[in-house]
Amino acid sequence: MPKFSIRESKRAKRVSLNMSVRDGLVVVVPHGFDHRKIPNILKQKQSWIENARRRIKQQRNLIETKPAATPPEKIHLQAISKEYLVEYKPLITHWVEATENGNNIILVSGAISKHNLCKAVLQKWVRHKAKKHLLPWLKEISEETALPFSRSTVRNQRSRWGSCSKQKNISINQKLLFFPEHLVRYIFIHELCHTVHLNHSAAFWALVGQKEPNFKQYKKEIRTASQYIPVWSND
Ligand SMILES: [Zn+2]
Repeated sequence: MPKFSIRESKRAKRVSLNMSVRDGLVVVVPHGFDHRKIPNILKQKQSWIENARRRIKQQRNLIETKPAATPPEKIHLQAISKEYLVEYKPLITHWVEATENGNNIILVSGAISKHNLCKAVLQKWVRHKAKKHLLPWLKEISEETALPFSRSTVRNQRSRWGSCSKQKNISINQKLLFFPEHLVRYIFIHELCHTVHLNHSAAFWALVGQKEPNFKQYKKEIRTASQYIPVWSND
């Protein structure tokens, strides 16, 4: 029997399995579910578990063997078709700052030998770009799909691309700027559909399909979408 933990969820209607680098195998069960039934379910899902375990192992290896990234020389924000050159200028200071000029050049100046400071300041720049470009874009798609939301915010999480709360507040990951446009659109539609269905039920997917007929293909692409994220933006 594989190692696992159990999470009871009031919202879950049936048993589902989750596997992540952080939590390992988690069996999500509806409230009051008979835990004695779990071993049988795990037996049925054995091949899924093995596959997921293999995937997690690869991810873990990647994380552990990846050297700290150096600050970038170029930044490609694929979602909005923009490319920037990053120039570094040393100054005798303790801080680092980034300024963008009109010609798609970002000037990072200050204590540039401190790579962590450079990466942090560039991540902040990405956040600023995300607020400027992603939030209005989300609003546009909300209007186009007639799926209103309450508030929207930008976050910088490692691998959660978006979320939607019961209050219909949507948060989106600033790193979506590195994705191809169609995947950003898909994430937006996905989160907007959560304003109607706060789960991944059949009704939810039916609504997603209504708004984005290609969603099955995009859903698959999202699984490997972290490939678009430059390492420096995660450090
Ligand atoms: Zn979802």
